[in-house]
Amino acid sequence: MSRTSFRLLRNITILGPPGSGKGSYGRPIAKKWQVPILTASTILRNAAHAEIDLDSGRLVDCEIVTSYIFEYLCQSSMHKQPFMIDGFPRTLLQIQLMREWPIEKQVHVALQLDVPDFVCEAKMLGRRHCELCNGQFNTAAVYRQGFNLPPQMPDSCDRCIPDRNWTSRLDDTPAIVKERLQIHGEHQKPITDYFAINGRLLKFRPYNGMQDIHKMRESTEQWLTSLKFD
Ligand SMILES: [Zn+2]
Repeated sequence: MSRTSFRLLRNITILGPPGSGKGSYGRPIAKKWQVPILTASTILRNAAHAEIDLDSGRLVDCEIVTSYIFEYLCQSSMHKQPFMIDGFPRTLLQIQLMREWPIEKQVHVALQLDVPDFVCEAKMLGRRHCELCNGQFNTAAVYRQGFNLPPQMPDSCDRCIPDRNWTSRLDDTPAIVKERLQIHGEHQKPITDYFAINGRLLKFRPYNGMQDIHKMRESTEQWLTSLKFD
């Protein structure tokens, strides 16, 4: 297999509503680029006095979040190379605080997963975990408005009986999922505006889910290569 000649030179965030697949798309792309992917919620969870649960969708105090992430970037060896981050920045205040960091630690560009709420909602409600094989599945099928997202069902576990041994996350209820999407929607525009204003935002709509991962990566590489930085 030929190695990609692309090298990530800027710190990139992956933006998108909860349930849009930031981690699912981000991980293989970061792996291909051989850069670390940082997850804001993991950094916060690991931070000492974290009574913090970002997964709940509640927005934790912006200054605390921002300072934990900055601390992590300063301590970890990861900051010496460009990185991908998932879950930061989430608010305009976080951006304002981030802009006081040294430029090499800031997030420079953003890849936005342009996934409508109805898709995210269906996919979050469809998430299943199999207690027998530890597999992660998704029972939701979305074939609307150009999307072609079949359910993700087991192909290897013969003990898996759909919806018998499967559980959902406790917070994947219709009401909580709606609330998470609403909170995200309220905070999204100033963030995408911040990156878009200098052409530092690429929108990508993965109509075919993970089947679009190569297209997503290649579009992002081409776009990043074409960007001019001072
Ligand atoms: Zn199973």
